[in-house]
Amino acid sequence: MIRSEAIPNVAFGTRKDGDGRSDIAARLQISAELDIPSDWATISQVHGAHVVEADHAGALGDADAVLTHRSALPIAIATADCVPIGLAGLDSIALVHAGWRGVAAGVIDAALSHMADRGDPATVAVIGPHIGDCCYEVGDEVVKAVGVSYRSNTRKGTQSVSLLAAVRDQLGAIETETLFSCTLEDDRFASHRRDGTKDRQIAVAWL
Ligand SMILES: [Zn+2]
Repeated sequence: MIRSEAIPNVAFGTRKDGDGRSDIAARLQISAELDIPSDWATISQVHGAHVVEADHAGALGDADAVLTHRSALPIAIATADCVPIGLAGLDSIALVHAGWRGVAAGVIDAALSHMADRGDPATVAVIGPHIGDCCYEVGDEVVKAVGVSYRSNTRKGTQSVSLLAAVRDQLGAIETETLFSCTLEDDRFASHRRDGTKDRQIAVAWL
């Protein structure tokens, strides 16, 4: 697991940690390593902008952001190129799954708004490992959806888009730590683009 310094209660898994949503052995091992309860609240990610608030463990349905005010209730998302983001207020914590569709749909803003509406705005954010603009080859429709100002080039010279730049802009003035590794190039991580894999790395957060 890769721990955040800015938000000590957020950890990003690598491929070897496995997908603790579906792999119970992986979940038990990650929970023991982090010294957290092994019953987590999870979501079915659909590349949208729906936010769900967790007040119990288990599968909470379709959403791309999950937050909780409950202590000792770990929340989790899983990624394999998309951007995992942790957000913390004073007494709540959130995880956001943002690929290009989520960035375009406004999932980060939806999570920030939800926290603010509940009276505990996010004051710090952490961005986890995801595919970099070095490798994220995309078509015009993706550039248009994310924003033409985020157009970039891969190392091969083909068109890419910087999800990192878009995510940072959407986080605005919030203090942000970036734990960047390009998931496609760094084989510690599962990459859907590289392997077409169903494997995911988990991100976990807890109060
Ligand atoms: Zn790369």
